[in-house]
Amino acid sequence: MPADEFRKYGYEVVDWIANYFEHIDEYPVLSQVEPNWLKDNMPASAPENGEDFGTVLADVDRLIMPAVTHWNHPNFHGLFSTSTSSVGVFGEMLTAAFDLKGMLWRTSPVSTELEDVVLDWLRQMMDLPEHFEGIIYDTASVSTMHAIAAAREKAGFSIRDKGMSGRDDVPLLRVYCSEHVHSSIDKGVITLGLGLRSLRKIECNDRFEMIPEKLAAAIEEDIAAGYKPICVIPTIGTTSTSSVDPVDAIADICEKYGIWLHVDTAYAGSTAIVPEYRPLFKGWERADSIVVNPHKWLFTPFDLSVLYCKDLSVLKDAFSLVAEYLKTTGEQSVKNGMDYGIQLGRRFRALKFWFVIRYFGREGLIARLRDHCRLARLFASWVEASDRFELLAPVPFALVCFRACPAGVEDLNALNERIMNDINTSGEAYLSHTKLGDKYTLRLSVGSIRVEERHITKVWDSLNRHLAEGGVA
Ligand code: PLP
Repeated sequence: MPADEFRKYGYEVVDWIANYFEHIDEYPVLSQVEPNWLKDNMPASAPENGEDFGTVLADVDRLIMPAVTHWNHPNFHGLFSTSTSSVGVFGEMLTAAFDLKGMLWRTSPVSTELEDVVLDWLRQMMDLPEHFEGIIYDTASVSTMHAIAAAREKAGFSIRDKGMSGRDDVPLLRVYCSEHVHSSIDKGVITLGLGLRSLRKIECNDRFEMIPEKLAAAIEEDIAAGYKPICVIPTIGTTSTSSVDPVDAIADICEKYGIWLHVDTAYAGSTAIVPEYRPLFKGWERADSIVVNPHKWLFTPFDLSVLYCKDLSVLKDAFSLVAEYLKTTGEQSVKNGMDYGIQLGRRFRALKFWFVIRYFGREGLIARLRDHCRLARLFASWVEASDRFELLAPVPFALVCFRACPAGVEDLNALNERIMNDINTSGEAYLSHTKLGDKYTLRLSVGSIRVEERHITKVWDSLNRHLAEGGVA
């Protein structure tokens, strides 16, 4: 594409994005298309000859937009509400323009060193001790998989070289987490060949927090049975309810038995930059590894997950493998990203995060997180004051778990499922659910950079209206 044409369409694309962000709350949050709508509207095969880019851009409105679910919409409250800032978009643009592959320092000094710089800034903002060194992966699932691999490496057994199959000198290796853990932990043990039977889920109390005494008893029982505990994974901010496992007490247990402690705080970790939230993180400074996702709640476009390790060299021991064509001379002291995981080439993700931190500053980020937590507490206060709704879990961060419970309705699960589906189908907002015990529980997550109090009010009005429309007074 000639430079002039690039400039022309570049300005058009930026205008398009600016309009999109300006008018985003006019779109239905969830895409309204039926499955296969997009496929049915696309040509069956690729164009024989190149097309004018203006025609392609026009098709974004005609074909792409109807099938978009708007994660950036301020009324996206399902799963975890995540969003990109505008500067995050600029970061992605430049990253694509450089298109570098951060494998070796030599192939990408800027990506290697900027990653170290921004991760150290984040470490300081979160008040983690200096010995934590970070590495960026795409997702928390991949960060945690690498943490479990490091724990397995640390436990001995030379699995890197000898593997696990066909050996009778490797006992069952145990990984522990709570029953409210994210499924990425299950996937991690599957991927690493430990198998789901290696994962032991520990019972929680009525606040959905892991019970440390149950963990200690499980470890004792496993050791007596000849198993080898290798890793414990508490969560600060679980996916269902955002509950906080007692990391400090769990760290005591890990210390006693010499077990790797990996803290999953993919969602809530961002709030460690807010001083009044730090008490919820007590004990995480004792961890061997920690995962936190700036792409969840620090306004950085997907994807960017950070794994902090007390000793990053364990990851290197597990994964470093330097093929002849990757050897470089005279750079023995540099950090090569490829040594710390299964990927060779790594995206230049640090750039967008650098933009975000510089544009908002620590105070700007803190103010936004504080406001999200305030809005969640405000919504929770409306739920508590209503005799037609009830809270089903504490609200430590910005996630509210609740349900409609009007008098005289027998099947509350069916009622709540119906209300959620009605709201989601209407496009007014997007809510998701979880099951707490046998209760169908609605979840409202507040985390969009564009969310204001009026958006929360809109959901509350909508909930009450849809409840009434079902004939419930
Ligand atoms: N851990 C927790 C606590 C989560 O809430 C999530 C996603 O919501 C994950 C891990 C997985 O995140 P990712 O999509 O980055 O793999």
